[in-house]
Amino acid sequence: MEFVYLHQLKHTQLNNTKLVDVIIIGAGPAGSTCAITLKNSGLKVALLDKETFPRDKICGDAVSSVAKRILRQIDPELETNLLAFAPKTNITQAKLYSPNFKSLSFSFSKTGHCIRRKDFDNWLFEIAKQNTNNEIIQNCKVKEVSTNADFAEVVLADGTTIKGKVLVGCDGAHSIVAKKLNNFKVDRKHYSGAVRQYYSNIKGLEGNALEVYFLKGYLPGYFWIFPLSNNEANVGFGMLSETIAKNKIDLKASMHEIINNIPEIRERFKDATPLEAVKGFGLPLGSKKYNISGHRFMLCGDAASLIDPFSGEGIETAMESGKFAAEQIIKSIDQNNFGANTLKAYDERVYKKMWGNFKNHYYLQRLLSDRVSLINTLIKIGNIPWVNKQITKMFY
Ligand SMILES: Cc1cc2nc3c(=O)[nH]c(=O)nc-3n(C[C@H](O)[C@H](O)[C@H](O)COP(=O)(O)OP(=O)(O)OC[C@H]3O[C@@H](n4cnc5c(N)ncnc54)[C@H](O)[C@@H]3O)c2cc1C
Repeated sequence: MEFVYLHQLKHTQLNNTKLVDVIIIGAGPAGSTCAITLKNSGLKVALLDKETFPRDKICGDAVSSVAKRILRQIDPELETNLLAFAPKTNITQAKLYSPNFKSLSFSFSKTGHCIRRKDFDNWLFEIAKQNTNNEIIQNCKVKEVSTNADFAEVVLADGTTIKGKVLVGCDGAHSIVAKKLNNFKVDRKHYSGAVRQYYSNIKGLEGNALEVYFLKGYLPGYFWIFPLSNNEANVGFGMLSETIAKNKIDLKASMHEIINNIPEIRERFKDATPLEAVKGFGLPLGSKKYNISGHRFMLCGDAASLIDPFSGEGIETAMESGKFAAEQIIKSIDQNNFGANTLKAYDERVYKKMWGNFKNHYYLQRLLSDRVSLINTLIKIGNIPWVNKQITKMFY
């Protein structure tokens, strides 16, 4: 069968069937980074997305400095390009507010960025597109995925079939690959929901600081104001899905209550203008381990539930897992061995790198929960210079 596959691969289009080496579903941070890492591998890659780029992704838009480290590891020029593409988006500190409105600031040792995902993801996708060995298909949803002894196969909404040696599921929180090949089911203890709305003209916006608020009556969860360029900001509110379901919380309504009823925040929004309707999306958290690969497939980013359980950051882990999946493919291609046992090495590498952080941040999420006085006290203690330094080391 392998002979038949290779023979067919020489004629990469058969009727309505395309033959490639690697199929990547989803061209967000995970999928585009995977495709970029495969650039010099000589492999034929199909990068598929149901949307047409530039496309929006509901997010806080905070891209941590780790993203730059990952880009640098792939190719130092990518980091330079990002800095040139995204000037005036530097984030140098985080400001946390306790329920009694005392603040705690942390300076980052390395600068992060706040960039609309529509722009950041498109920038990354354009780089993936430059690889001529990539077949790019946009605006076409993957409807079916399967694997068998000889290949992985996807069927698109227009009826096109694509066959590859291996499939990488980078298709986000509602991943068809995770559902169909990994039997993924949402576990609300390890899943969050969040909403976002862009605003302009919020008073007192500090251009280089992420603002995070722990608010009485809205715990466990947090409200954020993240600054963008042009006096605009990404405003949002998120919570653990278990709490949302238990207390029947309407996140959109809660966010507007916060903006309209909490005096310290209301004052800041007095002259602000919403730039869109509130939009919500899910966050599969990394606080539970899953099998993230199997026979001829790997899952990356949100499809693999790799979001930080405390901060809600998932862009950097999506990019890093996309890079790891690509490197695993490069390792396995010579032996043409994409069996479950071989790809297990990918799971091990991902969790070796990320699980320590996920575990600690999960404890912190559970510890703080809705404990108002504990959060007040910790934010007070966090202002002691030595403690501040230790926490900065832990997170930033
Ligand atoms: C409200 C909110 C705020 C957040 N804030 C932050 C933040 O500030 N910083 C941070 O680091 N992280 C944040 N996150 C998490 C972050 O958005 C995700 O972790 C990140 O987008 C994961 O990237 P990804 O490439 O895995 O998936 P995605 O970015 O979701 O990309 C998946 C891609 O797959 C495509 N796709 C899906 N299904 C199909 C299909 N069937 N066929 C073809 N294509 C398909 C989609 O169109 C999409 O382009 C936030 C999340 C939410 C919901």
